[in-house]
Amino acid sequence: APRTASFKLVLLGESAVGKSSLVLRFVRDEFSDFRESTIAAFLTQTVPLDDSTNIKFEIWDTVGYKSLAPIYFRNANAAVIVYDITQASFDKAKSWVRELQRQADPNIVIMLVGNKSDLKASRKVPRELAEQFAKDEELLFTEASAKTGDGVDGLFMSIAKKLPLA
Ligand code: GDP
Ligand code: MG
Repeated sequence: APRTASFKLVLLGESAVGKSSLVLRFVRDEFSDFRESTIAAFLTQTVPLDDSTNIKFEIWDTVGYKSLAPIYFRNANAAVIVYDITQASFDKAKSWVRELQRQADPNIVIMLVGNKSDLKASRKVPRELAEQFAKDEELLFTEASAKTGDGVDGLFMSIAKKLPLA
């Protein structure tokens, strides 16, 4: 039987960019246009990495107050930093990257996600801008849509492949 390796993953990013929606799409394959704001939620999802290994994500979804951040991402193996491609939320995402570079475990796997890719007609953040930033900072990067599900499983699989297996 495959062994299961567990990893702590935190969600970061400005309010309303779709952090909770991405998690609920990944864990329950659900989406709602009207979602209450989360104070804190803990969810898990296990995915097969290969024939011998399952990856269990222990996902911490919060409102992401900066003052709480160090407690929140202590011992985190992975961080998903989310911005909304239709809003000026990219600078905030960049500041989360800086915060992680200062305070998180140096081996943390960081993924930058431009969410709401279904709303391309309202795009404000060029894909190339985010892609270049991610490249410069050596982050994983994708655009995704919690609404359609596009890119969501793929982003967690990209992280799974980067996690250090003992
Ligand atoms: P959070 O505050 O970052 O956790 O954001 P939420 O997950 O609560 O989402 C905020 C709002 O954006 C909600 O009304 C969601 O329905 C909406 N939303 C989230 N993801 C998407 C998406 O991919 N596409 C669209 N069109 N709306 C989304
Ligand atoms: Mg939320």
